[in-house]
Amino acid sequence: MSYNHYDTVIIGAGAGGLSAGLYAARSRMKTLILERGQMGGQTATTEDVENYPGSIENPTGPKLMERMKKQSEEFGCEIKQENVENIEKKENIFVVKTNKNTYEAKTMIIATGAEPKLLGVPGEIEYRGRGVSYCATCDGDFFQELNIAVVGGGDSAVEEGMYLTKFANKVTLIHRRDELRAVKSLQERAFANEKMEFIWDTVVEEIKGNGVVQSLVLKNKKTNELSELKVDGVFIYVGYQPISQLFQGLVEMDEIGYILGDEEMRTNVPGLFVAGDVRKKMLKQIITAAADGAIAAVSAERYIAENF
Ligand code: NAP
Repeated sequence: MSYNHYDTVIIGAGAGGLSAGLYAARSRMKTLILERGQMGGQTATTEDVENYPGSIENPTGPKLMERMKKQSEEFGCEIKQENVENIEKKENIFVVKTNKNTYEAKTMIIATGAEPKLLGVPGEIEYRGRGVSYCATCDGDFFQELNIAVVGGGDSAVEEGMYLTKFANKVTLIHRRDELRAVKSLQERAFANEKMEFIWDTVVEEIKGNGVVQSLVLKNKKTNELSELKVDGVFIYVGYQPISQLFQGLVEMDEIGYILGDEEMRTNVPGLFVAGDVRKKMLKQIITAAADGAIAAVSAERYIAENF
């Protein structure tokens, strides 16, 4: 087991973590990013990124995140694929234990992001990976010329639903109200897309199948009428939840688990900063995650200058 000392350890290699890594490494802080899963976070599973300024010519999420990763590494940021299992603050040093190593850091930046919420209906877990998906970029290709349902009415559901029309015969978006939550420009394009259909005021009661997904049991919320929709797959986009269980008891968070940070990304723990979707804030986008990361890194640098 190696024992390593860093100026800052960043947890999570999404837009927030990678931006923090870039800014910290450019300030010549000894910087390590730890990522338990896929590099690039949620953006790496988003095919069309059209609202990150400058990403117009080569806008796919995976490519954007590959460039962000490369950029932070070019300035000397280390990135390791390890799962953080425990964090302790001993005097003014953070001790971070992963499945492989133990690290010491003067500061830490939590940038663990968020993960899809489950719909919580029978069949969802059973058919996960066999027709139930939370990632159009990962699984869309399996549904060539097939019929897909998308559940949800936010930006994710509408954007990913439209992406799925590239493969599917038909994409039916099922929303529990009669009005979408998604931004208006996305709505306009979705309504104009001939492969998109909409079922309003309706919730999914059950996902049924025989080895793979075959149909959804639907309930109209206004009439309570039940119906069955034949589909080959269902993509669920009913929101996200923060990935913050590891930090329970260490840092202040709201009742859902979003970590509280101020304008300078400071948490209630000195030396501990937060960035990206895991932070309680109004707008969760790549651009705000990147901005959080930059601010968190600069705050961490200042904290070290004042305290070490
Ligand atoms: P969201 O905005 O929270 O929308 C979740 C959707 O799922 C809502 O339409 C909600 O219905 C519905 N829903 C929630 N629970 C449900 C349930 N149990 N059964 C059925 N429907 C349910 O989540 P999101 O679309 O994943 O977006 C998350 C954040 O990321 C947002 O801030 C969004 O703007 C951002 N985002 C941005 C982009 C982009 O800018 N291109 C792309 C993706 C995501 P109600 O409308 O009735 O509440």
